[in-house]
Amino acid sequence: MTAVTLPARTHDRFIGKVHGDAPGPALIVSGGIHGNEPAGIVAARRVVAHLQEHAIPLRGDLIAIAGNLDALEMGWRFVETDLNRVWTTARVEALRASDPAIDNAEQRQQRELLGIFEEQQRTARGEVVILDLHTTSAGGPPFCLFSDTLANRRIAMKLGVPAILGLEECIDGTLLDYSTKTGMHAFVVEGGKHDDEASEDYHEAAIWLTLVALGMLPPDTVPRASDCRARLAESTKGLPRALEVSYRHPVDESDNFVMRRGYVGFQPIARDEHLADDRSGAIRAREDGRILMPLYQELGSDGFFVIREIRPFWLGVSTWARTLGLPRLVPLLPGVRRHADRADWIVVSKQIVRFYRSEVFHLLGFRTHHEVDGNIVFARRRRVR
Ligand SMILES: [Zn+2]
Repeated sequence: MTAVTLPARTHDRFIGKVHGDAPGPALIVSGGIHGNEPAGIVAARRVVAHLQEHAIPLRGDLIAIAGNLDALEMGWRFVETDLNRVWTTARVEALRASDPAIDNAEQRQQRELLGIFEEQQRTARGEVVILDLHTTSAGGPPFCLFSDTLANRRIAMKLGVPAILGLEECIDGTLLDYSTKTGMHAFVVEGGKHDDEASEDYHEAAIWLTLVALGMLPPDTVPRASDCRARLAESTKGLPRALEVSYRHPVDESDNFVMRRGYVGFQPIARDEHLADDRSGAIRAREDGRILMPLYQELGSDGFFVIREIRPFWLGVSTWARTLGLPRLVPLLPGVRRHADRADWIVVSKQIVRFYRSEVFHLLGFRTHHEVDGNIVFARRRRVR
């Protein structure tokens, strides 16, 4: 364990709470889950202040919170462990069972956050939605991530930024993953570069548009609503509406991973392009695509992601197929069988996955769960209200 002397905190856990007279969803906006990403906190402060100053009536509740208070103080991504990798079911259960007196820096944060989420789930007057605001070490336009249920898709498509599907499958223990598993809706908005003031504006726009998308505010009462939409539209001009992750490059400290200079999010890359280096040599692109979240900071376990467009046609087909309940028929496809123990899992041989392409399973609402004996096990995404 690292011994770190922490300075006195200047951030409060609660940035602000706005309680609407009319019942509605509880929207939890979190900023600074990574301590070097304070832009979301600035944005949440602005929205709360505006709502209070102008006494704008809200349906439901807005709860704005700061994530990793200690790391925010230091300006570090985290103090001891990444607070956005600790939300696996096993780790949350272990935390609940353990003595708070021996918590490390992030366990203390997680315990408090867990308490807030659970309280909202008990007391909310509608669905509980988390909007988790982040920024990246590289520049690039804003985008959003969510667990790909139809309900989440409908909301995400109203945010006006590209949606990245399948990223949550690549990374274990994110807050997004936990929220979805526990029946909340959750969205991550990556607002741009850490120290870019525009990231604060994009986050503010994302909060306003989420409030409208959830019906918590009528569109015409939103201050600067058209401004927000225009700003986000301008920043993402010419980009596809939906993309999916086709590759993740994991890194650990001993790799000596160095991304080559000059990449920004969504930049097109060509097969064989020299993207980065590590102790085993050059790292080249395996396929054409666009790069996402190239790593230009020391801490982090993802070197970069490669994403590619999902054509609107396929997005439409998958919405239609899911609305008709076709995913129920997937286990009847040749080469696909139900899991012996779990009704919501299917087992597919790798060969068959290659034949159908894994995207087909993803678009029908299954996520890759694990591999066993040359088979891939897909889990049906939990349906949230
Ligand atoms: Zn982050």
